[in-house]
Amino acid sequence: MALVKSRAVVLRTYRLGETSNVVVCYTENFGKVRLVAKGARKGGGRLGAALEPLLVSGVVFYRREGGDLSLVSQAEVEREFPELRRDVVRMAYGSAVAELVDKLVPGEESDPRLFGIIVGALEEIDAAPEAELDVALWRFELALARELGYTPEFGRCVLCGNEAGRDARFSARHGGVVCGGCLATRPEVPVAGAAASAAIAALAAGEDISGGSLDAVVRDEIGSTLTDFLGEHAGRSLRLRSIDFLAQVRRMEHSQTEPDQHDED
Ligand SMILES: [Zn+2]
Repeated sequence: MALVKSRAVVLRTYRLGETSNVVVCYTENFGKVRLVAKGARKGGGRLGAALEPLLVSGVVFYRREGGDLSLVSQAEVEREFPELRRDVVRMAYGSAVAELVDKLVPGEESDPRLFGIIVGALEEIDAAPEAELDVALWRFELALARELGYTPEFGRCVLCGNEAGRDARFSARHGGVVCGGCLATRPEVPVAGAAASAAIAALAAGEDISGGSLDAVVRDEIGSTLTDFLGEHAGRSLRLRSIDFLAQVRRMEHSQTEPDQHDED
């Protein structure tokens, strides 16, 4: 057990006994760790204030390896995202980032580049126009997939290996594009539509796309395709609470702004 120091993004916290919290963090130097913040639930504690979800804090802790709980000795906020913490919609996107890291990153391998990707995504969600928040999340999902070693394939068909071509469509299940020839003979292979496939390929190539210019149906399709893709590699279907919550908020906004229309779902 060694006393160590790292920057950390707080992913989530849960209660431990009457006064303490367990804080699940992604640290710059040690990967994902679970810390115990003693007394964090008592009012006015500085430790607790620095270890709230979606803050970047400098933490000093007695490190135990192997997934055991490590005791925090000090924590200080280094970076907060004011808009993200103020606005319920941005908060939901930020929570989706935290949930994905919590669910998909297996353990304690150190990956400072992934730490940078997480902080970068939170910065973008803090600052981007609301119409571009989806794009920020999608870009993060693709970067996370790459970092975890499952980069989607866009150059060649994942079924036959031939060059993908213009009529190729993205398949979440197969982790890449399926060519027109294969789709013609195997219509049962589930793939995203043309517009969603093109947007995912552009994002993966690092191109900027405008979320605001996408049709709402296509937007939903890109979102669910990428979640399915990540879930496929995690070996289970991913149900993100933050995304469900976001869908609820969107439905409420929709029913307030367009009172004469009724969703039939
Ligand atoms: Zn093919």
